[in-house]
This record gives sequence, C-alpha cells and structure tokens, in this order.
Amino acid sequence: MSHSRIAVTSSMNTGGTLFRPEQLVLIGSAAEPGTTIEMTPFKQLYVSVDTARLQDAQQELIQSGLRVLPTGFVTKSLQACNFCKGAEEAGLSFARRLDEAISGLEVPVPLKIGYAGCALGTSEPLTKEISVVKMRDTFDLYAGGDVKGIKPVFAELLLTKLAEEDVIPAIQRIIQHYRAHSKGKEKFNRFINRIGLDDLRKLSDKKFSP
Ligand code: SF4
Repeated sequence: MSHSRIAVTSSMNTGGTLFRPEQLVLIGSAAEPGTTIEMTPFKQLYVSVDTARLQDAQQELIQSGLRVLPTGFVTKSLQACNFCKGAEEAGLSFARRLDEAISGLEVPVPLKIGYAGCALGTSEPLTKEISVVKMRDTFDLYAGGDVKGIKPVFAELLLTKLAEEDVIPAIQRIIQHYRAHSKGKEKFNRFINRIGLDDLRKLSDKKFSP
C-alpha cells in the first residue's frame, strides 16, 4: 500500500491557529494506521494518507474547514500572528486572502512567509524569508530573514506604505523571480544577496513592473 503525505492546517482566526476537536478526530481518521502525524515548526501537521483514499480524505478535511497543502519544496502556509487587536484592525480577512494566494507554490527551497497585524510583530515577522506587517491602513513588506544556524539574519524593509491591493502582487512577483532565477537549490537569502536588495525592491514595486 502506498502513502501520500499532505500538510494540514487550520484556517487563521482571532486567537491563532485553532483546531476544533472534531477536526483533530477527522485528521486522525484520515491518517494511515501505523503512521505518525508530524507537528512541523511552521504550524502544519504532516499526515500520511493511503494514496487510494487521498482525494476523498482531502475533500473531507477541506469540508471541515481545514486547509490541505502539498509538503516539500513549496511556500508554507502564512505564518501569521494571533490577531489580538481584532479581526478588522489586524487585517484577518486580508491575511486569509494572502494565505490563499501565496501558500503551496513550488519554490527551489521552502519559503516561510510571515504576517503581523501590527508593528508589535509578535509572530516574529523579521525571522521569515518574506513578511508583511500591517501598519494601521497600509502594509510594510520585508524580505531576507533567515534565522537558522548560528548567524541569524533579520529581514530588511523592502517596500513601505503599500496599499492592501498591492501586497499580494508584490509577493507574487518576488516568488516568480526567485523561481525563475535561482541557481539550483539556492536559499532565498543567498538569492537576495546575489541579486541585491535594491533590484528585488524594483522588481517587487509596481512602479517599476511592466
Ligand atoms: S502582531 Fe499585533 S495584532 Fe498580531 S497578535 Fe501581535 S500584538 Fe496582536
């Protein structure tokens, strides 16, 4: 019998990444007996499912309100804060749209994209490869965080005072450029160092895009 591994996470909400008990029961029943469920550092559960049941299992999980994404060399689901300032002020509905638009995309090396609903940044946005911080009515975009290893690097400010509708296209342009121009399995942080933050700023800014 063959297994397929899927990444399962809950929809973001005020209070954080919350699972209802019945959703956890469903995840347990979707998992192939004898396998384990891995809790990743990026708020996804990796679940091994019988490949013959994969489509049905995915459908059931999605219908229960869970998100199902690929594992491996993809952008991970949005690493967001707990929206403690409330759904509207912290931008919950925008964060959900951002998550839908940018997670599960194939990339040379897995990418973590962060989101904070205010400048307090309790989700540690500057530790992520790409991150968005809501600043009242506009958004700041950061890039280049890499805190693995013993020489951590924090993300730097790329674009500031972005309108909501400009954030997703800017991130999509960055991801597309990384996919098209990385050298093999080049880490995102090294990719930025090679092409330069100023060039990344220009290609992500709609003022300079075709
Ligand atoms: S980043 Fe701001 S809105 Fe989000 S949980 Fe932290 S303090 Fe609350």
